Amino acid sequence: MTPVTCFSGKTVTVFGLGGSGLVTAEALRAGGAHVFAWDDKQAARDTAAQAGFIIADPVAGGLDGQDALVLSPGVPLTHPAPHPVVLAARDAGVEIIGDIELFFRQRALVAPDAPCVAITGTNGKSTTTALIAHLLQEAGRDVAMGGNIGTAILALPPPDKARVHVIECSTFQIDLAPSLVPSIGILTNLTPDHLDRHGTMALYAAIKQRLVAVSGLAVIGVDDPYCLGIADRLAAQGHPLVRLAMDHPVQDGIGRDGTRLVRVGPDGATVLADLAGIPSLRGVHNAQNAAAAIAAVRALGVDGDAIRRGLRSFPGLAHRMQPLGHIGRALIVNDSKATNAEATEKALASFAGGIHWIIGGVAKEGGIAGLQPFFNRIAHAYLIGKSTPVFAQQLGDAVPFSESGTLEQAFAAAVARANASDHPEPVVLLSPACASYDQFPNFEVRGARFKDMAEAMTGFRHMEKDA
Ligand code: ADP
Repeated sequence: MTPVTCFSGKTVTVFGLGGSGLVTAEALRAGGAHVFAWDDKQAARDTAAQAGFIIADPVAGGLDGQDALVLSPGVPLTHPAPHPVVLAARDAGVEIIGDIELFFRQRALVAPDAPCVAITGTNGKSTTTALIAHLLQEAGRDVAMGGNIGTAILALPPPDKARVHVIECSTFQIDLAPSLVPSIGILTNLTPDHLDRHGTMALYAAIKQRLVAVSGLAVIGVDDPYCLGIADRLAAQGHPLVRLAMDHPVQDGIGRDGTRLVRVGPDGATVLADLAGIPSLRGVHNAQNAAAAIAAVRALGVDGDAIRRGLRSFPGLAHRMQPLGHIGRALIVNDSKATNAEATEKALASFAGGIHWIIGGVAKEGGIAGLQPFFNRIAHAYLIGKSTPVFAQQLGDAVPFSESGTLEQAFAAAVARANASDHPEPVVLLSPACASYDQFPNFEVRGARFKDMAEAMTGFRHMEKDA
């Protein structure tokens, strides 16, 4: 844990106790603060009470005399409307911050030079974060990874010159962290997403921009117009910058030549890595994630050999285009996190053909109509869940499909047909393009069921990590 001493002797309310809230309250208490806690849910309040925190509703009781309101990133600060607790804090003149802010204040106090990589972007945050942590670990460095991925930031060991913190940041977390100053800031990409919670695209992009604008080194994917604009603005100010361009040539930064990532500078081009044959980093989107990770770890002094070794041993993240292993000739891939057609498009684009595609659940608007350009890569589709009639209609005569009903039936049929096919490298891909809640509590449970079924099947062979 990172005890937060900068509020020692002061009074703080922690609002929102799920996820990181309770850890934050504990870190503040460990650092000597008087901590009040509240959550709209009774069960969360009970847990906090058992842990010895004072339970007080800041909306009913007000925040007079408090030194800060520490807000969970899930509580609306601005959109669609500020939560009543935000208004109560403003009325009382109490600052509103998040746990990442507490971490950076503590870092400024105890180890201002401690290396810290912060990652944001619409897509690819978790993969990039996990890959950076993995590359550093494989290079023998002390790494603490957390934030919006896995572990709450204050549950990590404290900042230290000899330890690299690798922190995934959502827009909401950046918005609550005015002192965020990473040594390296990464912005992967920007597309309109959850604008109901961000207001406008301009506001969303401005919040994301802040993370790279305050960093010592900015690493920015410049394939979309929003990020390109941000990179150009930082470059005009002379800000240290690495551009990542995956779909066009780049003059200065990291570009792509097929599966190879190439560093382009004034003195020419050097190949940094070849992603061919790395199953966990298939696809152009993962090339962007890998380029971002390479830029960060190079800046932290990791050498080329260690980077190439680390890339090859990256196991991938669960449920995101995760290669599980083989059954017979069929590669089994878990992309349960793909809950919409855009995410599934990335998966389909990553395989040239022979795809046995398990798809369905609760469809998003438009269904899979936008995936038509990839239909010729699909050997057979296996429809599950509520979306079956709609998807059957959208696939029409373009793709052979079965109405499998359940994931179990779809999986068994897909493995059998993939192995009976004459494609040299068939793939059984769970990339549902749908939410899971008609058949599963969430995408994690759906992916875990898929993995369990694969591992239970006779002849299953795990992915070889160093392949
Ligand atoms: P995030 O943490 O930003 O949600 P993840 O790394 O968890 O991103 O990836 C989630 C999904 O987003 C992946 O399954 C893939 O479909 C898509 N994705 C990942 N990286 C990128 C990228 N760099 N650009 C576009 N889409 C991506």
